[in-house]
Amino acid sequence: MLHTNASDTAGPSTTAVHAGEARQKPGFAITDPIFAASTYTFANTQSIIDFIEQDQPREEYGRYGNPGERVVERKLAALEGGEEAVLFASGMGALVGLLMAHLNAGDEIVFFDECYHRSREFCRKHLTRFGVGFREVPTCDYAAMEAAITPRTKFIVSESPTNPHLSVVDIERFAEIGRRRGVLSLIDATLCTPFNLRPLEAGVDFVLHSATKYLGGHNDLLAGVVVGSADKLAPVRQLRGIMGGINSPHNAYLLERGLKTLALRMERHNANGLAVARFLESHPRVERVLYPGLESHPFHAVAARTMRGCGGLVTFFIKGADWRQTAAVIDAVRIPRIGPSLGGVESLIEQPLVMSYWNYTPAERAAFRIPDNMIRLACGIEDSADLVADLAQALG
Ligand SMILES: *Cc1c(COP(=O)(O)O)cnc(C)c1O
Repeated sequence: MLHTNASDTAGPSTTAVHAGEARQKPGFAITDPIFAASTYTFANTQSIIDFIEQDQPREEYGRYGNPGERVVERKLAALEGGEEAVLFASGMGALVGLLMAHLNAGDEIVFFDECYHRSREFCRKHLTRFGVGFREVPTCDYAAMEAAITPRTKFIVSESPTNPHLSVVDIERFAEIGRRRGVLSLIDATLCTPFNLRPLEAGVDFVLHSATKYLGGHNDLLAGVVVGSADKLAPVRQLRGIMGGINSPHNAYLLERGLKTLALRMERHNANGLAVARFLESHPRVERVLYPGLESHPFHAVAARTMRGCGGLVTFFIKGADWRQTAAVIDAVRIPRIGPSLGGVESLIEQPLVMSYWNYTPAERAAFRIPDNMIRLACGIEDSADLVADLAQALG
């Protein structure tokens, strides 16, 4: 077989290491080359005509694709159990590309309201300028989702788990609504990754990732991907060739390299998330912890039934603290760096009030359920005992 060392039944780690790659590569190298090329040449006029008429699997010009990016696309399709993947230069590039390729004026789109705020902002501020209707319903309120679907609805969208509240969507129920009502379903699975959940197997039409997070995994690149069936992704790939939101060969290689350790890293992220959440839940200064792996989480049962693990993101609240006292905890940690994002080997910590909602009114923050004493910790792959000890000293 040309493109894979991993069979369809291989486990996630074998798939992450080998899928999508040729067994023999240029120069007999074990790694894939980085072709630093913006264009690809032809031997003569007849070979151009053959390329066009036979739809040959080669590159023509860098905006339409590059060989390294194809490797990553095949690897991601294999990891998700999907037919095809289209890689973009960022997660938002992937979302915009997917929706622009499939929506027409007069169509409507329904979101669960805890989805990534820039995704909803794109729909609310921009898709509406092109005559696409946008609705939001409370997250995991399946009756509200059903009620919001009209004959014009083309897409239902959710994230799972959501960020920073970590609500977990019942993926089978979500997919079933899409199927029964004849609308396309999209899950932004950035926080769970294909290691913890494979939404396509539950019948969802599209899975989207910010590959900037766990898939890349090293806080050193931006990328995004949509995975689904070949026919539903054909217009997405076509539009990407026009939009130009493609990964450079260098960036695609970084992502390929990062993906090799996805399963190993996720095991550690899952273990660290749970260990840190358990520690925080037992700490007298902590009012509440949101982590789907904890029995106290409102979506624990759904998570336990559907997910292999719950990832590295942990949200918690400092008991009786105002925003400054909460900031003091963040400023006292020594291992996690202070910054946005998640999913990399280095832990990151932030106060959502300051990082993402500083310019919002108190009423808006209340509507988004972002209290002043909320902390979001994205556990990296450090030793959990060190993370716990660091949090203990910061809380002390
Ligand atoms: C970061 C993120 C995005 C956006 O991805 P970028 O790569 O930053 O464009 C979308 N969805 C979720 C859940 C994210 O965490």
